[in-house]
Amino acid sequence: MNKTKRSLRRRTGPKAHSRKGPSGVGFAEAAAYLAEIGKGFYARGWVLGTSGNFSAVISREPLRLAITSTGLDKGSLTPKQFLEMDEAANVVRGDGRPSAEALLHLAIVRGVDADAVLHTHSVWSTVLSGSHASQGGIALEGYEMLKGLEGVRTHNHREWLPILENSQDMLELGERVSRMLCEIPDTHGFLLKEHGLYTWGASLQEAKRHVEILEFLMEVLVRSGAAQSA
Ligand SMILES: [Zn+2]
Repeated sequence: MNKTKRSLRRRTGPKAHSRKGPSGVGFAEAAAYLAEIGKGFYARGWVLGTSGNFSAVISREPLRLAITSTGLDKGSLTPKQFLEMDEAANVVRGDGRPSAEALLHLAIVRGVDADAVLHTHSVWSTVLSGSHASQGGIALEGYEMLKGLEGVRTHNHREWLPILENSQDMLELGERVSRMLCEIPDTHGFLLKEHGLYTWGASLQEAKRHVEILEFLMEVLVRSGAAQSA
C-alpha cells in the first residue's frame, strides 16, 4: 500500500526542523482543535468516563506535544486543560499532569513520524480486541470506507490492525508499541486488548479521520457478526 510514501517520510522527516508542528500547528491552535475533537468523540460514545487521550506535535526540535491532562471529562474539554510536554513526558506548560499513556503517544510520534495521536475507548474496539486477541489482530478487508485511511485507494486493501496485550506498565507497553511499529510500519493504528484504539496521522485532521474510519469499520464488524448469528 503506502509503504514507499511512509518510508520516505521516515527518512526525511516531515518538515523536521520547523518550530511549529510539522503541520504548522502551534500549541493554542492544537489545544483548541483537540478540545473540539474530544467533544465530538464523546458525543459518539468513544471516550466516556474520562477515558481516551489526544495529542499533537507542536515542535520536533525539541520534541514538544500538546496533550490532554489526565482524568478529564472529554465531553467538556477546553483548550486550557491541555498541557505541553517534552520528549520525556515532563510538563513544560499548563497545570496538571499528562495521562499515564503519554509514553505511548511519544512512542508513536517517534515510531511513525505522526503529528497527531488519538486514543479512544469505544464499545466496538473493546469487544473486538478481546474476541480477536488470540489472533494477534483484526483484518479489515473489502470495505469502501478503508479508502479513508491515508494512502489506501481501493476497497480491496487489507488493513491489519494489531492487538497488543494491555498493561498498566507504560514503560514496558511503550517499548512493545515501538517494536510493533518497527515490524508493521504501514499500520494505521493498533488496539490494546479490551482497552481501546490508538491511531494517528500526519495532521490532526488526518488522525481524526482515521478514528472515524476505524471506529466505523469495527462497529460494522461487531454488528455484522451479531446480524449473522441472529
Ligand atoms: Zn486508554
